[in-house]
Amino acid sequence: RGKRAFIAGVADDNGYGWAIAKSLAAAGAEILVGTWVPALNIFESSLRRGKFDASRKLPDGSLMEITKVYPLDAVYDTLEDVPEDVKANKRYAGSSKWTVQEAAESVKQDFGTIDILVHSLANGPEVTKPLLETSRKGYLAAISASSYSYVSLLKHFIPIMNPGGASISLTYIASERIIPGYGGGMSSAKAALESDTRVLAFEAGRRHKIRVNTISAGPLGSRAAKAIGFIDKMIDYSFANAPLQKELSADEVGNTAAFLVCPLASAITGAVVYVDNGLNAMGVGI
Ligand code: NAD
Repeated sequence: RGKRAFIAGVADDNGYGWAIAKSLAAAGAEILVGTWVPALNIFESSLRRGKFDASRKLPDGSLMEITKVYPLDAVYDTLEDVPEDVKANKRYAGSSKWTVQEAAESVKQDFGTIDILVHSLANGPEVTKPLLETSRKGYLAAISASSYSYVSLLKHFIPIMNPGGASISLTYIASERIIPGYGGGMSSAKAALESDTRVLAFEAGRRHKIRVNTISAGPLGSRAAKAIGFIDKMIDYSFANAPLQKELSADEVGNTAAFLVCPLASAITGAVVYVDNGLNAMGVGI
């Protein structure tokens, strides 16, 4: 039977999550996605109305099928964690079972098991502020949405992952080098995500034979990246300074993700894999 993937963090056809879904679908996987609750309605109605049909096209000419879209808010683990004002919020009250635990339970009820778990989400409310101006609340929110969300997803989905399965997340080089403009504790959150990748690879490998890796991706003009405000500058910088002077396409990250979660990568775990036209290897821009 084909593999089944759950991809958390798809809400339009511009980001890395969408590209990863396509590469996995092209390789024959069944696609389930987790979509942030506030973005759910617009994503589902756009899908239904055919707005994404052009970008659903796979190399063989068929259209990617998304078997099911699950509402998800990865900053809440269980229903008990959800504050009253969020419960009462119109956008959240319109759907249910969107905490991490409930989403995993729903997938289990619907499909039993999965083989592949993808974390392609991040959020830092103070991302435009330098670290020195970041509040404790903003810093912890960045870590909660961008780092712990992965620990939580893996923790809740591992019980329904088949042995031999694999998981990946997306990180950014601001975790290890200074990238002015990537603020609000987001650089810290990515450093945590990369460190956790190693520890989770150990724990998930020993206990469940599951591999855990992260892709350090180059700049892409996604919705999330545009909110940071400096993405065009980063894309231009990469084009000018990377060993490969070409635009980075989301598909290149998608294809690497498909490799990392497939048996061809059966000995790779705990790794940070750069998909950035080689920019990470440069010492100075030139
Ligand atoms: P994107 O906007 O396509 O994806 C981010 C997704 O996270 C969105 O769908 C958003 O709805 C979702 N999200 C935010 N908070 C959430 C929450 N609490 N619960 C569930 N979902 C939530 O943008 P993207 O740039 O493709 O981001 C995907 C991943 O790639 C992120 O981890 C990002 O940090 C990483 N990344 C992006 C770049 C880049 O330049 N775009 C570079 C390196 C790494």
